[in-house]
Amino acid sequence: MYGTGLISNLLGAFHMAEVSMRYSRFVPRVYNLARSLDFEQGKITPSRAFCSDESQGYPIILIAKHFGTFPFNHGLVGGIVATDRHGPYAQHGKDLFIIQASHVGFDPETQRFGVYRRLQTENQRETSNCGKICGALDWYLHEYEFARNNIYLYKEENEYKVVIDNQLLHLEREQGLLLKLDRFVQLDAQGAPAPEQSLSTSKVFSVSPALHEHLKGYNWESGRGAPIGQHLHPDLFFFRRNISHHSEGRDHLEKNLINVMPYVVTSDWPALTAAQANTQVEFDRAFRTIVQEPAYKGKKVLFLSGLNVDISPQDGQLFPLTKFIPWAAYVQDGQGNQETWDQAELFNRLKQQSTDNPDQVDLEKAIETMERAEEIRLPF
Ligand SMILES: [Zn+2]
Repeated sequence: MYGTGLISNLLGAFHMAEVSMRYSRFVPRVYNLARSLDFEQGKITPSRAFCSDESQGYPIILIAKHFGTFPFNHGLVGGIVATDRHGPYAQHGKDLFIIQASHVGFDPETQRFGVYRRLQTENQRETSNCGKICGALDWYLHEYEFARNNIYLYKEENEYKVVIDNQLLHLEREQGLLLKLDRFVQLDAQGAPAPEQSLSTSKVFSVSPALHEHLKGYNWESGRGAPIGQHLHPDLFFFRRNISHHSEGRDHLEKNLINVMPYVVTSDWPALTAAQANTQVEFDRAFRTIVQEPAYKGKKVLFLSGLNVDISPQDGQLFPLTKFIPWAAYVQDGQGNQETWDQAELFNRLKQQSTDNPDQVDLEKAIETMERAEEIRLPF
């Protein structure tokens, strides 16, 4: 697992707008990329680890069209890789292309992330997207909101004070948002937080020099002061929660996100930041399982991770205008050579590929052919 310093570096390493591409351009490019790695035409079985959301259907249809076969289902809800399917999947094709993507909705009208217009609902309602990620975030966002509103900052003559709610000072709590008090308040000689005054439901401290420095430019109010609000920086707290640490179990997504959660809840678009972080953590985890997987020994494998941005369909559109933001890839040639590509390298390699794919199939024609084929009677 990453420490918080590493996490913030990792999050910052993810570029978005400049590397995003329409799915209809990304999929032929990734097919041609596989072909450039000597993957054999007609012998590639694609596989996808996508969320179960129907908004992921359009990318799946494009993968089927360009690879000429329907992709194997390698995914759990939330965009988690089901690594126990590596073995069966390896039997289904000579050359293997696996794509993992977390997803986030986007409404182009309001420019909001985390929502998606469901055309099939009664009033074409917007709902959360990814619903699994947004559902997991609710508790953390609520905890963060409470902390923002229940820590007050004020100035008394030339002294800077912070008032912290007693619940937030209870550091033995099994669950909740926990403050890194040593960064927040002045400590006594033993290194313990030193309250100067106890109020009915809170305590008053002198702010630490570090917090005072962090709040440079802050307009300190006198009297009751003001809630810390958006100045509650991710470096000042962490979360503790009773979750199952079972790999690929019920809480796998939260397990992936809990260390990065302070950055998620303080970001402009928590659903986007969470999906991004999940992709990053999931790539790192899944690629290690692929390297170790005996069933992949001697096979060509291209494993690629990124983010699906589901742009809500407008009137008259059947599908979302999904964009793909590549993050990283792992490739092995089946002869013992393996490489990982970080985001810039992966993007450049994709960009070099043509968006023409002469091998793509006409799905309508393929369906028509199946309709015309002579019926086969089952021997019951
Ligand atoms: Zn989802």
